[in-house]
Amino acid sequence: MSFSAKPRMMNSQLSGIVPVILAVAFLVAILVFSGRAQGAEMIIRGPQVSKEFLLGRFDPSRHPDFVEVALTHGNKRGMFLQRETYKAFLSMAEEGKKNGVKLTVISATRTFGHQKGIWEAKWKKQPAKLNETDRAIGVLRFTSMPGTSRHHWGTDIDLNSLENDYFQKAEGQRLYGWLSARAKEFGFCQPYNPKGPERPYGYEEEKWHWSYLPLAKLYLSQYAKRISLQDLKGFAGSNTAVSLDLIERYVLGINNDCR
Ligand SMILES: [Zn+2]
Repeated sequence: MSFSAKPRMMNSQLSGIVPVILAVAFLVAILVFSGRAQGAEMIIRGPQVSKEFLLGRFDPSRHPDFVEVALTHGNKRGMFLQRETYKAFLSMAEEGKKNGVKLTVISATRTFGHQKGIWEAKWKKQPAKLNETDRAIGVLRFTSMPGTSRHHWGTDIDLNSLENDYFQKAEGQRLYGWLSARAKEFGFCQPYNPKGPERPYGYEEEKWHWSYLPLAKLYLSQYAKRISLQDLKGFAGSNTAVSLDLIERYVLGINNDCR
């Protein structure tokens, strides 16, 4: 009895372990795969640049070409930029310092998920009586739809303040005056300049938002070629992207000097 019972018990123990081993192997495979998908091996250069990257669906903290902005140059931890963008920013910040202008990064790379959080919070705050298109137009004054932000690329930064008031006061005027005159020497351009005949559509002016063109130019041209309105999905109000001609009017609706 005892001889025959023991192997049977081992068999039943084994048959209990096999599903556990399979489950663990499956989880490991998912982790490895998602690690690749989220950043580590994502292609972010040249014409083969990943569509997922252009849409912000990756994790910059895991990508080898991204670095964290130091607290001496940013207002919080956890902000990432492409290494090349950051290097150019540091040169610009150093030159600014010599000229009595302190540049502080207050927002850098934002993922699809991050942008979705910002978008949906503002979406909910729109007046309830508005239809979906008017809601989207309201949010779009200063905020990009997830998947359409230049902040997805690790090339764009917001500096010092997100308030127009700040840029109307002496310190903000001085900062903006300096950036307008000097930023281009370091590769930076203001994509959201005042709207007018040359820029009839898109976001309102953002004096705080600067883009590193040597990299961003490529991403914009790849975006125009390869991303379609149907790629914009997975958030509240995404269906309005089509009627608003979002890529043409907002993603491509930038300062001509930044193309
Ligand atoms: Zn910005």
